[in-house]
Amino acid sequence: MTARVRGRFAPSPSGPLHAGSLVAALGSLLDARQQGGEWWVRIEDLDPPRSVPGAADAILRTLDAFGLHWDGPVLYQSHRLDRYQAALEQLRDRGLAYPCSCTRREIACGARPGCGGPVYPGYCRTGVRDPHRPSAIRLRTDHRLISFEDAVQGRHDQRLARDVGDFVIYRADGLFAYQLAVVIDDAEQGITQVVRGSDLLDSTPRQIYLQRVLGLATPRYAHLPVALDAHGHKLSKQNGAPALDPRHPGPALWAALCFLGQQPPRELARATPVTLLDWAQRHWRLERVPARAQRPWDGTRQGESTPVD
Ligand code: GLU
Repeated sequence: MTARVRGRFAPSPSGPLHAGSLVAALGSLLDARQQGGEWWVRIEDLDPPRSVPGAADAILRTLDAFGLHWDGPVLYQSHRLDRYQAALEQLRDRGLAYPCSCTRREIACGARPGCGGPVYPGYCRTGVRDPHRPSAIRLRTDHRLISFEDAVQGRHDQRLARDVGDFVIYRADGLFAYQLAVVIDDAEQGITQVVRGSDLLDSTPRQIYLQRVLGLATPRYAHLPVALDAHGHKLSKQNGAPALDPRHPGPALWAALCFLGQQPPRELARATPVTLLDWAQRHWRLERVPARAQRPWDGTRQGESTPVD
């Protein structure tokens, strides 16, 4: 049975939780709970070379230690390959997807720049160029406008054929692409609100397009500001963002609430996670979330951000 409102947090287990992922976890939880909805967790472990052994369990333990308790079973993408395969076959049978043998270098030579990378020039659209190479599978795109109203970032438009080109839904190394898996899982889990980092904003039109061709519902989207380090780089496992300390959840939760523009009262600066989360659930206002980070994330000042009296 599908709840009226259901949000989700979908970490990739490429390392422990850090402040950047805490912002996405907390924002998605508060947005769902404040509307009386559920909050589910999905482990996006589709890419074995990037998955760190033990990271998924460590992420779940840290969420628990931070008081971020999920509903429903945790879904692991690695257990769902047959679902992705069925969707891929359906798209191929309908002539909407085709194999592509192009290498990154071949594409880069002939491609225009688009949103977030070269626009695929369509070399394999009418037949795979080199049948002896391992093929990816691409989805055919068109020039129709895909437009959606993001609850934090405002209106966002793309024409996929112009801005992205036919995009990969199955990789030449034999892995299902994130874009395909996320759409199938959000639909099957009955997700009504997708709240995540704004680094994924440009992926959303591809996901909406896939929802349309697969006949799936489109959730509401809210893309949160991305936490940056002092050099303006996204806090990420790759950039060496420190792991959250499960023994001291309060200061990081406080800092994440300040980052999300929620202005927790000063007297809660040293409160327990239960008290902080209780306050946050009752006072969460999505319209207060800024579109972009107001200042770099300074882990050393956690708990000292300017509180409102
Ligand atoms: N697995 C992605 C990540 O960890 C998030 C995907 C999503 O929220 O759609 O960055």
